[in-house]
Amino acid sequence: QMTKKTSLRIGILEGDDIGHEVVPASVRIAKAAAAASGMAIEWVDVPIGRRALDTHGHTMPEGTLETLGALDGFILGPIGHREYPKVPEANNPHPILRKRFDLFANVRPTRSFPGIGCLHDNVDMVIVRENNEGFQPDRNVVMGSGEFRPTHDVTISVRVITVEGSSKVARAAFEIARSRRKKLTLVHKNTVYKLGCGMFVDSCYEVAKDFPDVEVNEVIVDTMAMRLVRDPQSFDTIVTTNMFGDILTDEAAGLVGGLGMAPGLCIGRGSIAMAQATHGSAPDIAGKGIANPFAMIESTRMLFDWMGHHHKIDAALEMSRLMKAGIDAALADPATRTPDIRGTGTQADMVNGILRGMEAAR
Ligand code: ATP
Ligand code: MG
Repeated sequence: QMTKKTSLRIGILEGDDIGHEVVPASVRIAKAAAAASGMAIEWVDVPIGRRALDTHGHTMPEGTLETLGALDGFILGPIGHREYPKVPEANNPHPILRKRFDLFANVRPTRSFPGIGCLHDNVDMVIVRENNEGFQPDRNVVMGSGEFRPTHDVTISVRVITVEGSSKVARAAFEIARSRRKKLTLVHKNTVYKLGCGMFVDSCYEVAKDFPDVEVNEVIVDTMAMRLVRDPQSFDTIVTTNMFGDILTDEAAGLVGGLGMAPGLCIGRGSIAMAQATHGSAPDIAGKGIANPFAMIESTRMLFDWMGHHHKIDAALEMSRLMKAGIDAALADPATRTPDIRGTGTQADMVNGILRGMEAAR
């Protein structure tokens, strides 16, 4: 018998560079939303990244995974720093998190807002990217590493696609499609990758049997790259494999103002979810107070929205509503927008704009 959750334990992993700005900004806004909604949250600081290397001797210290396993969810800032030692496990801690907590679906929405320099109006879609398979060398379950150099002038890259992995991400995507406009687009290239993409597509159609109310269509990935630029409004929910999803979500971000506008939520079948924006640590703008906090704040809002639905906590849903109202208000005014989205403000101006917008929506 499950007891109903009345409070949440949320981890804060700042990451590197602009992570030290956009993650605290997100936590500040979430705390204000929680206070206004009567949501009890215990916040837990968890070491990761460059700072953890200094304090604990590793970018992913012993104990971090255990700490996270006891939490309901976490907010992960961008990780990656030019001063990392050149060993793979130090360079890439976040795939470890996605694997350990089986966060196989990366949910990345793209929404246009007026006045911020979007290439198209009325864009509202979600790309669901498979998170733990594909070409990614650090995620290759079969061979350990996905890249090999049998001789000095030949490299072989291995891509892993499984029925289980494909079915899991497909199910997550169908559920999202069902909660939206009930339209799901499968993106692949089974014309060439007959086995890998073929298995992915077949797995999606198998899952589709459980979702007769969702309309399914297919677009080949290269055509998709073109159509995203020409008619992004014709898409609602999209599901695709890891690397195609990586590329298409950056392209989608470019349609609506750039990487600062690209949030994400990593989910699995369990009850842990992780807010993680699409962008990296952006060292070129770190410390200048101009990084766009939208992507991280919206990822955080998605986390609480998901928690609200998953655990049936009304206060978490109210947090999400308030945060959305605050974000919409700030994005509507150039004075409370960062320069990358045609604003005249700083990151602090944007955060204050969101806080005022939330106050007005109470
Ligand atoms: P990764 O390998 O981690 O994906 P990347 O090389 O793709 O990183 P990012 O750090 O994502 O690079 O960013 C690329 C550029 O986009 C940055 O250098 C920065 O100029 C811009 N950018 C990224 N995130 C933001 C943001 N939140 N606000 C404003 N500009 C951003
Ligand atoms: Mg990138």
